[in-house]
Amino acid sequence: MSSSTDFVLAVEDLTVSFDGFKAIDNLNLYIDKNELRVIIGPNGAGKTTLLDMICGKTRATSGSIKFKDEEMTTLPEYTRVRRGIGRKFQTPSIYENLSVFQNLEVSFPLGRSVLGAIFFKCTDEVKDRVSAVALEIGLSALLQTEAGLLSHGQKQWLEIGMLLMQEPELLMLDEPIAGMSVRERELTAELLKRICQNRSVIVIEHDMEFVKKIAHKVTVMHQGKILAEGSMDTVQSNPAVIDVYLGH
Ligand code: ADP
Ligand code: MG
Repeated sequence: MSSSTDFVLAVEDLTVSFDGFKAIDNLNLYIDKNELRVIIGPNGAGKTTLLDMICGKTRATSGSIKFKDEEMTTLPEYTRVRRGIGRKFQTPSIYENLSVFQNLEVSFPLGRSVLGAIFFKCTDEVKDRVSAVALEIGLSALLQTEAGLLSHGQKQWLEIGMLLMQEPELLMLDEPIAGMSVRERELTAELLKRICQNRSVIVIEHDMEFVKKIAHKVTVMHQGKILAEGSMDTVQSNPAVIDVYLGH
């Protein structure tokens, strides 16, 4: 099963078993370059576990995860980050006492080595990257604001920005609009459409109005497997999907 592929991400026959319970069960998933894929499905379907396995937080029992044709399954989490896999968790991990600028600055990859962090200097390259990312996440006007003073939605965008500082080629977001206002949800949809122009994005989301706005393709998971996959319209009219998920 070591055939070469053009996909950014190719997940094949992936399985993880927790004490005999298969949270991910022989799953296949292929993500294109610059694709924005949304994963939906009932609670416990295995959506979060799948992202955990792609980023290396959870080890596969069997199967393959190829990122840009390189096998990831045996690589530790930090190596996958360096290869270009970025993952945003549900609870934001920004530095509340630092400004928006400083939060982005410390996320610049130079700080990846201990020595790099110690001798870190705010070079023009870093400033340019901070400006570009601030524009992408809509926080250009708030660069000097202390992060703790941002709204809930702005904090989420800042954290996305911190991931973008590392220029990931695959960005994964688990329920990014939870707790956001209507306006923040709209702005997040625009933000995600912007950032997938330069990279692939996988989003787990429940809000179907939001999914409709952003998804190129939708994958429906159920019991660790893929129940359906395709355009929003195809998936929404699939009787099996209505039965296990959309009907509730
Ligand atoms: P979703 O994100 O789709 O709601 P999860 O991926 O969080 O689902 O969970 C899928 C299933 O795997 C659930 O039944 C959950 O209880 C189980 N599970 C997830 N992680 C673990 C773990 N570390 N140990 C045991 N069971 C787990
Ligand atoms: Mg989850």
